Amino acid sequence: MADCIFCKIVQKEIPSQLVYEDEQCVAFKDLEPQAPVHVLVIPKKHVESLLALTDADRDLVAHILVDVVPQLAKKLGVAEKGFRVVANTGEEGGQSVKHLHFHLLGGRSMQWPPG
Ligand code: AMP
Repeated sequence: MADCIFCKIVQKEIPSQLVYEDEQCVAFKDLEPQAPVHVLVIPKKHVESLLALTDADRDLVAHILVDVVPQLAKKLGVAEKGFRVVANTGEEGGQSVKHLHFHLLGGRSMQWPPG
């Protein structure tokens, strides 16, 4: 999508610190990390949020959550102690970029409830 900053990262039109890439998704370091490990895992395809997913996206979401996130958590060294995956959705959910993304946060103890 033309004005989407994450689509531009996927297309390599703007730089990012990529930590993973395959045919369906990419992962890159968050610009403003909120934890020692903070990466964003996003589908290459533009999907606005969890709410915009359709039946056709089941394999894509499963790929991200079943294959990629656990593998990245291990690669980034947070699997053993634990980590958090967050998909902020909509205004009150705190979503600032309207391209579906899963925050993978780790490397410190997380608090609950979130702010
Ligand atoms: P959210 O607020 O859940 O929509 O998360 C958007 C995240 O994208 C924030 O944590 C931002 O720091 C991050 N972000 C925005 N622009 C970039 C960028 N160009 N490269 C990496 N992370 C970004």
